[in-house]
Amino acid sequence: MTGLGGHAPTGHTGEGAALGGRGVRILITEDDGPLAEALQFSLAQSGYAVDWVANGAAADEALKGDVFGLLILDLGLPKLDGFEVLRRLRRRNATLPVLILSGREKPEEKVLGLDLGADDYIVKPFSLNELQARVRALLRRGQQGGAAPTILYGGLEFDTVRRSASIQGKTLSLSSHESGVLEVLLHRFGRVVSKEQILEQLYSYDRGVSHNAIEVYVHRLRRKISGGGVTVRTLYGQGYILDYVNH
Ligand code: CA
Repeated sequence: MTGLGGHAPTGHTGEGAALGGRGVRILITEDDGPLAEALQFSLAQSGYAVDWVANGAAADEALKGDVFGLLILDLGLPKLDGFEVLRRLRRRNATLPVLILSGREKPEEKVLGLDLGADDYIVKPFSLNELQARVRALLRRGQQGGAAPTILYGGLEFDTVRRSASIQGKTLSLSSHESGVLEVLLHRFGRVVSKEQILEQLYSYDRGVSHNAIEVYVHRLRRKISGGGVTVRTLYGQGYILDYVNH
């Protein structure tokens, strides 16, 4: 048992929650100070409330309070390593989304982390944009009551964590806008999705999207997913439907 030795949960909380985060509180457990500060700043900018602790024992204590909506967890930590923090957390709480952020990139460590109940794993170095996208994906999955990370219709498969689509194992080359459009259509498969709903989805990472641009993204997307047995139909004046080709 490792002593708690005085590192209380500190770090400022991003207040005033601007757009995006909607008051979700994130705990960062990271002993690399400058990295933790960069993460904290970036996530606070997106409207999350962010706390930071620099060792595993402090994380274990802070997590008992059950106030966090997501945990970003380093593995190599003083006092209690990340695996042990995760093990203890999962005994108490099976559902808190956990994103491991680690410099260890041996496949067996990734596997152990995921087996212990982490939801995603990012290897350092990484981009803040990628991290933000994965945080959003994890929070979305949580809201949907632990929906499967992969959506499959016909031959089209979509990984909601990596936000990548593939047909028969071959990854499609989609822009972030095209993936965003596909994602919103997939979540409402077989139902009409209005341009406004698509705009709302894309707005989280691009405020400059126009109605006309959506037509372009849909057009490109339709071409790229042909061969997967599904297509995007246009309903003039109403929006779009993703459906099986032969319906
Ligand atoms: Ca570390």
